[in-house]
Amino acid sequence: MYGKSLPILGGAGALPVAGTAAESRSKAATFEYLTTRKDELVGWARKFSLFPYPFVTACCAMEFMAVSASNYDTDRFGAALPRFSPRQADLLMVVGTVTQKQAPILLKVYEQMCEPKWVMAFGVCASTGGFYQNYASLPGIDRIIPVDIYVPGCPPRPEMVIDGIMRLQEKIANGRHPIINDSF
Ligand code: SF4
Repeated sequence: MYGKSLPILGGAGALPVAGTAAESRSKAATFEYLTTRKDELVGWARKFSLFPYPFVTACCAMEFMAVSASNYDTDRFGAALPRFSPRQADLLMVVGTVTQKQAPILLKVYEQMCEPKWVMAFGVCASTGGFYQNYASLPGIDRIIPVDIYVPGCPPRPEMVIDGIMRLQEKIANGRHPIINDSF
């Protein structure tokens, strides 16, 4: 429609269409509205359909089992069904101490996950290396992969893990989800 002209009825010439800038603004506003609503919708769907991949290495595993069991019931957060293939998961839960030798394996698991994906550092060992101040332990998994949520504690209580899941869901819900081309 931009730049076109309309013929005058009964005349030989043509008049330029007024309001081209207004049309452009209207289109931009429509686009902004649609992308905002789309982000809200996709964010809502994604936050309630997390599929965790538990990368479990140490004693925090007991707490992972506790939080996954019926007493705490992470099903109600849409985050319960563990997937044991990284290709089917979108939440990497790193549970326990990660050694320097395990670091390349963790990186490979992370790289095998499809986008969008999120990472939780479960416990102080995964977050900072904990009290393992030695050459063999990784001083925090964020040295090799990006972390979205840190859950402190040695081990963290199930309530802390649930709080971490809820904060991650909040982050997902408020994020941008570019699934359509901005130039439509
Ligand atoms: S944070 Fe504590 S419980 Fe968890 S793996 Fe480290 S030492 Fe074990």
